Amino acid sequence: MAERITGHTELIGLMAYPIRHSSSPAMHNEAFAYLGLDYAYLAFEVDNSTLEDAVKGLRALKLVGSNVSMPNKTVVHKYLDELSPAAELSGAVNTIVNDNGKLIGHITDGIGYMQSLKDYDIDVIGKKMTIAGAGGAATAIQIQAALDGVKEMSIFNVKDKFWDTALETVEKINTKTSCKAALYDLADLDVLRREIEDSYLFANATGVGMKPLEGKAVIPDKSFLRPDLIVTDTVYAPAETELLRMAKEVGCKNMNGFGMMLFQGAAAFKLWTGKEMPIEHMKEVLGIRYE
Ligand code: NAD
Repeated sequence: MAERITGHTELIGLMAYPIRHSSSPAMHNEAFAYLGLDYAYLAFEVDNSTLEDAVKGLRALKLVGSNVSMPNKTVVHKYLDELSPAAELSGAVNTIVNDNGKLIGHITDGIGYMQSLKDYDIDVIGKKMTIAGAGGAATAIQIQAALDGVKEMSIFNVKDKFWDTALETVEKINTKTSCKAALYDLADLDVLRREIEDSYLFANATGVGMKPLEGKAVIPDKSFLRPDLIVTDTVYAPAETELLRMAKEVGCKNMNGFGMMLFQGAAAFKLWTGKEMPIEHMKEVLGIRYE
């Protein structure tokens, strides 16, 4: 008889829409099985119209917690009891922990990015970084990097609907952390070149480089890069974006978004189970390569 799921098995959810493509269920269930932990992780199609009921259900059914993805990340805080400092500052939640009936919202995307840098021997603490993006991923990274001790941050974005978020992020970083942040227009290429030249690390956290913008990059050409610059991308499909292709040509140490994906999951896993995700095993099973 199958013994994996019993009357004692505890449930962890993922609430998003669309969600059937997600690799999170495979990742977490593999880690539970590998460590012999009695949990199951399931994806639920939940959008903004059903989110409140879904959170009530989570409470009523005493789930251990849940991941939350688009379009619910910036909405779900309304239905929770408490937020972590990073979730509060970034205005987004990707992980809910049910602490004996008290629902606490966390954001682990930024933690995941910072941890993936460490795992790849990249140390940006006390240094300057330039980062393109002002959406969910970018904001989480910017807030966590500032909280962790990045000294200076130049943020670039196009003047679209995310511009105001970027303004707010810069204000929060400058008033609530010791990091010094500034915002520039991504169209201002001379300033972009100057800020990258002055940085230890350049990060793309926009959707440029993945479908429908595959083959495109946030810098016009590789003359913006130099061999001792670290270049990272949050995109992991494709594993090699146009930006990372240029970085490799110039000889920069570079990292794609797989590490961030793995370590945001590992941080959530630790919050729910109190255990470390078996990182090396997961890298092998998921076929994760940084470059
Ligand atoms: P989002 O929709 O919240 O933000 C989109 C960002 O891209 C904004 O900054 C926007 O201004 C910018 N952008 C869009 N079109 C642009 C264009 N033509 N030129 C310049 N900038 C443009 O998205 P998100 O959730 O922040 O995701 C951003 C990227 O990060 C995506 O590629 C996503 O796959 C990736 N991501 C990776 C992880 C991970 O774990 N590795 C996690 C979350 C997101």
